[in-house]
Amino acid sequence: MDKKFSRRTILKRGLQIPLGGGVLFGLAACGSDDSSSAMVCADPNMMTSAQESVRRTLKYTEVSPDPASVCSGCAFFHAPAQEGGCGSCEMFGGEPVNPGGHCDSWSVDA
Ligand code: SF4
Repeated sequence: MDKKFSRRTILKRGLQIPLGGGVLFGLAACGSDDSSSAMVCADPNMMTSAQESVRRTLKYTEVSPDPASVCSGCAFFHAPAQEGGCGSCEMFGGEPVNPGGHCDSWSVDA
């Protein structure tokens, strides 16, 4: 194998690696600005077993699998005192829930 690389080829290939990495990093950063999906409102370690049981039974999740049925659009939801914070849920006795969360009791009519 007698293949030689020119200086131009080596420089071009050397630039392709960092540019490719920059594009991948930029793509990874896209879509990660949804603050409600990163927020944890229900820490199981801070709940009583009854509170944890209700959430487990109703399959509460901090991030809804369906963007059309999130806690903030549910009839049982009460908005947070501060924008961007956790709301509360009547089904969970007024305990905190994620505005972007979901459970099996999601309803538009209470
Ligand atoms: S009932 Fe379920 S979906 Fe509705 S606000 Fe409470 S936790 Fe969210």
